[in-house]
Amino acid sequence: MNIKNSLKNSLKELQHFIPANFLNFLQYIHCSLIWRSLINWVSKPLEFNHKSVMVFSPHQDDETFGCGGMISQKCEQGIQVSVVFLTNGSGGNSSAEYLRDQIIKTRREESLTALNILGVTRENIHFLDQEDGNLQKLNHQDRKDLVLQIVKLINQYQPGEIYVPHHQDCHQDHEATYDLVKEAIREAKIIVRFLEYPIWLFWRSPLFILLKPQDLVTAYSYSIASVQEKKSQAIAAYSSQINSLPPGFINRFFHSQEIFFPAEYQ
Ligand SMILES: [Zn+2]
Repeated sequence: MNIKNSLKNSLKELQHFIPANFLNFLQYIHCSLIWRSLINWVSKPLEFNHKSVMVFSPHQDDETFGCGGMISQKCEQGIQVSVVFLTNGSGGNSSAEYLRDQIIKTRREESLTALNILGVTRENIHFLDQEDGNLQKLNHQDRKDLVLQIVKLINQYQPGEIYVPHHQDCHQDHEATYDLVKEAIREAKIIVRFLEYPIWLFWRSPLFILLKPQDLVTAYSYSIASVQEKKSQAIAAYSSQINSLPPGFINRFFHSQEIFFPAEYQ
């Protein structure tokens, strides 16, 4: 185990001794500080462009939280946007099968509503229906099959830009989505602009351990002021999710900027 991982695990252990409310408060402060410094001082502006877009989202809500403004702006300009959900969103939090099925159905409906608000047409929304929480645990063949499904979709759309969660997003499914899509882009052998969107990164990553200043300086800020209201409505469509998130966590997704990081796939 390397130093970074052992430090990460020690910090996780330490978190068990911190009262939940206080930990939540610390995470909120930490996230807000990183966010403000990125927006105000560190990031470079990313200009709007007319490239078509594919957004890969591990769960039904990540695409809207991380890229909802960008999606809406592209759709308003008639640019093709497709969204691919990797998991079924079951959350693994219910043992009763009928409840689990209900969660999957609810989240699917919420995602269709949210994406309709943002302007994505139904035929450009894809559900790959992998088990929630399992993307890093797939066996060799299942992983190969999933990468192949992603390759086919990439070949079908030939996007100019691909968006994935940050490679260190502090959530197994999110980091796995990055890896799977990166592998698929290589297999598809296309030239594409590859960008990462942070969801849990600023909330869960202890400052300067996972996230170093040299990583932050590559950030882009993207103005979504013109579609902020639409993004807020799309977020509200995820009513089953919003209340289960830590207090304060979603605040930054209502901001007039979205943050992206450039990624490599070669
Ligand atoms: Zn997620």
